Amino acid sequence: MAVLLSAPAITLPKWKSKELLKTVPDIEVNIIRSGNDALALLKRVRQGYKPKKLEFTLVGIDKAKLGSEIYFGGIWKRMYNVPLEDELGTFEYAWHCPGCGKPILVPLDEGDDKSELVPAPWDTFADVPMVSAQELEIARRQGELLPNGLPKGIKIKWKRHSKLPKFCEHSFPLTGVDATREGKEENPDRICGERLWRPAIHSLGESRNRSRVNISQVLKRLKGYFALYICDEAHMCKSEDSGRGDAFAQMVKSAKRTLMLTGTITNGKSTSIKELLWRTDPRSLLEAGVDYQTGSVEWASRFGKLEQVIKEEGGDEGVITRRNKRSVQTKEAPGIAPQLTAQFLLHKSAFLELPDLGLPLVELKEYPVFLDMDEGHGEHYTKFHNTLHEACKKASGASGTPGAWSKFNPATLMYSARPDQEMIVRLGQSAYTAPALGDGSMLHAKERWLVETVQSELSEGRRCIIFNQFTGSYNMNERVEEILQRMGVRCKILNEPNTELRTQRLAEYEAEEYPVIICAMKLVEVGLDMMYWPTIIYNQLSYEVSTVRQSSRRAWRIGQDRECRVYYPIYNRSQQMKQFMHIMSARGHALMVEGRLDKSELASFSIDSQSSLARDLASCFAGADVAKAWTTLAAKEMAGIEMIAEANFKDVLSERMQRLADETLKLCGIDPAQWHQERSKKPIIKEIGETRTIDLMNDLLIRQEVQAETSATTRILSNNVINLEEEIRILTFAELIVDEPRKILKKQIPTHENQLMWDFG
Ligand SMILES: [Zn+2]
Repeated sequence: MAVLLSAPAITLPKWKSKELLKTVPDIEVNIIRSGNDALALLKRVRQGYKPKKLEFTLVGIDKAKLGSEIYFGGIWKRMYNVPLEDELGTFEYAWHCPGCGKPILVPLDEGDDKSELVPAPWDTFADVPMVSAQELEIARRQGELLPNGLPKGIKIKWKRHSKLPKFCEHSFPLTGVDATREGKEENPDRICGERLWRPAIHSLGESRNRSRVNISQVLKRLKGYFALYICDEAHMCKSEDSGRGDAFAQMVKSAKRTLMLTGTITNGKSTSIKELLWRTDPRSLLEAGVDYQTGSVEWASRFGKLEQVIKEEGGDEGVITRRNKRSVQTKEAPGIAPQLTAQFLLHKSAFLELPDLGLPLVELKEYPVFLDMDEGHGEHYTKFHNTLHEACKKASGASGTPGAWSKFNPATLMYSARPDQEMIVRLGQSAYTAPALGDGSMLHAKERWLVETVQSELSEGRRCIIFNQFTGSYNMNERVEEILQRMGVRCKILNEPNTELRTQRLAEYEAEEYPVIICAMKLVEVGLDMMYWPTIIYNQLSYEVSTVRQSSRRAWRIGQDRECRVYYPIYNRSQQMKQFMHIMSARGHALMVEGRLDKSELASFSIDSQSSLARDLASCFAGADVAKAWTTLAAKEMAGIEMIAEANFKDVLSERMQRLADETLKLCGIDPAQWHQERSKKPIIKEIGETRTIDLMNDLLIRQEVQAETSATTRILSNNVINLEEEIRILTFAELIVDEPRKILKKQIPTHENQLMWDFG
């Protein structure tokens, strides 16, 4: 059985090695990387190739959509039999069919099928100003007229929309033998049928790109070869006229069934699902009275929500009258009618959340670590912190210097992290400074902790991510890199600004086995999979609690089998501590919104309050209660998710997968117990070794028969089998016996039962 799977190209290696080969036994996985790969498959299938086992064909959706540029094949020339338009000698030009040479006919009123047909004028197909008769004349004289009647070097752009004709529909009355053939009454004329569009040709300068085969178009021609088409991240194909949407539509046609996987089926608007439905299940839409002409607004008026934006521009015109200009614009608002879900989605969707699967996650542990500053650092820090605090308070209160406080957090947070750098803060006329302590060659307390912790994690065979907040010109990433490298730790800074390339960078770092990655937590806030590095260390935090929460989950995902650890090293009696308490309070509020925490419980996590800003630094000291409050909060967040210690995780997971597989069997109407029993007792005869020798002998027999006759065609055949004969002569009779396929009794290992294929991305 053959299965086609499309996914973002970047995830294909992961699909192959981590999902398919790991979970489905005895399969073949091929990745289509180019149009030629696709064509090779098409050729094989047309020659009668059928997969022997379960065969997955993977294709990147971004690759599948690429094709040659489309070029209009019509010829721009003078119309025959049309007299001169005027005395100046200008002629009537029109687009002509490249096949029959007749003018291409289009409706006079575009879009009206019943209107009169006229020869296609310039702007039916061309989207640039018309070439003048003069330009054409010059080109003709210089011999620079292209085969399509346009001057060489012209920059042409073609119109592209679905209403433009695709074939020449010129009809010819039947003549000669054709006129007397049978059935001509029903089909009296011959239609030209020439294609009007073709791939652009690079060598003629029609395209800057070399021509390329559109993979999805090739796959479409495999009609029904694939039993199933799996489209990962299906929401990416939702657009009506994107290349991806088109590639998706073609690949749907290549398979008998389609399975779409997505984590975000809609973006909240009803139109985001329209094209996916139209391309996969047009029948249900047609039955509901929706067809290909149904526009977005009509769709949204039935299944979504529309809003009218009325713009009024008031303007005085004259003294007495006052006129308002009104413009009304209709656009779609977020909202999906329950009818849409009920009618088109519910009966063919499976909604899955982690607890539904009954699958556990490996243990996640959060460790707040409270450290004291070194003696000199602590003194200077306290002095700087308190002075600056007073100054900011004064500046923002009395004189109202705007943004006075905005400098406070970065300055204090940075001085606690980099005491080797002098800190200067200017407020109005005054400057507040903290001295540089040492030249950076000595590590301060938190840096020593960081190096020790990283080394200890590495010694356990674990890998780490270190998050910073103040990167860029603050150089926090570079400092961490430097102190780790000094201790002989291999590490890499992730600072790829391009979100799409970032995943690629991470994959490269994983391939190069970097044990430590350093980056700004903002960079990995969403979507990235960093499972390779199961320990996360917050060298710095952020006031944005959602950033902290999301970045802390980058390693803890389905598929992770190493225990996940998150460390929050915090300096006591510093702004870091206040920031930590702020995050704890905000996290509590977020959990309350999510319904994981009661309002009554909230107070115990909100140690930070407005008043604490004014409080003395001495109170910013974490006792055991703060650490306890933090871990309690973490537990509340994870409530409902089953966590298993790393040591037992693999066993428990495989047992759960088994249970899930049994549930699946039940849903398929199979009794799992009976099924297992049958599979364990029934030995399966498996042939080892190809039956090539036997085939050769058969070929030999056929050859002898063929040689008996000597017609022109068989002579060619016999030439072909000469080589075969030579090959056979190398084998002795004894060898032939040895090479005979052996039938071996082999007990099948019942691996199929606990298999699951799912995308949790
Ligand atoms: Zn034609």
